[in-house]
Formats: sequence, structure tokens, C-alpha cells
Amino acid sequence: MINKENYLALKEQLKKSSTTLVAVSKLQPIEKIKALYDLGERNFGENYVQELCNKQEELKELDVNWHFVGHLQSNKVKYIAPFIYLIQSVDSLKLLKEINKEAKKNNRTINCLLQVYIAKEETKYGLDENELAEILDFKKQGNLENINIKGLMGMASFIDNLKIVEQEFKYLKSIINQFPEFEILSMGMSGDFELAISCGSNMVRIGSSIFGARK
Ligand SMILES: *Cc1c(COP(=O)(O)O)cnc(C)c1O
Repeated sequence: MINKENYLALKEQLKKSSTTLVAVSKLQPIEKIKALYDLGERNFGENYVQELCNKQEELKELDVNWHFVGHLQSNKVKYIAPFIYLIQSVDSLKLLKEINKEAKKNNRTINCLLQVYIAKEETKYGLDENELAEILDFKKQGNLENINIKGLMGMASFIDNLKIVEQEFKYLKSIINQFPEFEILSMGMSGDFELAISCGSNMVRIGSSIFGARK
């Protein structure tokens, strides 16, 4: 069972700040995705390629926007390239080149976010500022013509100290401020999305507080 009350209250809350919700459905059964879809949700996020492809195949009659939010290996891009709506977790130029190649094969432009490393407390994936600059420079030179870079994504440290989490969010906000062309700042999960929004997020990725605990 999904938590319908939480979901509807959350949508109401997000509407006030024009924040987009991505319902992170990784490790959740297809029935729960359908239930949320029936309540009007269209944006779903997944972390694992095989699981995403199975779900997409099963739900291909529905107009779901599938977001990829997990660590993506270059050799798996080809499986999601035909249908993916937004790849939020681009963490290397090598990966972006592969996405561009597969996008071209599928005659598509694929929307991407660049994942920036902001957590100081943990080892997470993501680009540092130099790598980010390198990618944007490469794109500016006319490469990656089948990629649309829509903005940035970040994951804060998974800790109770909200002061540190806030610093991490503000750091990412300060980076995106340098790029007025970027529309999307994806930061915030079940435990920290309100803080993320107060720091400038306009897309939150929320799983457990809608779907319940994962398997
Ligand atoms: C799992 C996951 C989420 C959702 O986490 P919850 O704590 O369940 O809301 C958000 N973003 C990413 C990248 C994730 O892997």
C-alpha cells in the first residue's frame, strides 16, 4: 500500500514552491507505481537499469516520465536510451559521451543532469567543480549534440546534522547560480527535502515517505 495521505499532502506542499516531485520507486513493486499513477503522478525515478527496463516494459502503455537517479555504468546506457526522460546522475564525461552516442542511435535528444559531489561525510558519486567545467566546456565546443544538459543534481550527506546538510545544499546552489541557462536543481529526499527547497531546489526525489520502506 502506498501512503496516499502523505502523497497528496506532499503534492500540495510542493505546489506552493513550484517544486517538481520525482517519486523514487526503486525496489518497490509495480502495483505501487500503478496506484500512484492513478492518483496522477507521472514522474518516477529508478536506480537500477534491469529493474527500470522491466518496469518500463510492463507499463509502456502509460505515459510515465522515467528518471534515472542511480549510478549508471556506460555499458548499460543502451538499455535505457530508447525511452529515458531524464538521466539525473551523470558523473563523468565518459558516461555523457556514451549517452550521446546512444541518443543518436535512437534519433533522440536525451535530457541530463550533471551530478555534483557535495557530500563531505561520505563517498558518493559525483563531479567536482573542475570536472563540471571540463564537461561544460566540451559541450560548448559543439560536442554532445544529442544531449540536453538541463541542470544539476546533488545528494547531501546522510547524517542527522542539518547544519552540514544545509551547507552542502547551499554549495550546490552557489554552483548552479553561475549557470543561468540551467533550469533544474535536483536536491532533497524524504528526510531533507524541505531544507533542500529552502536552499533553492526545484526538484525533489522522494521514495520511502510515499511508498513506504523498501524491501
Ligand atoms: C533512493 C534515492 C532517493 C529517495 O530516497 P528516500 O529517502 O527514500 O526518499 C532519492 N535520490 C536518490 C539518488 C536515491 O538513490
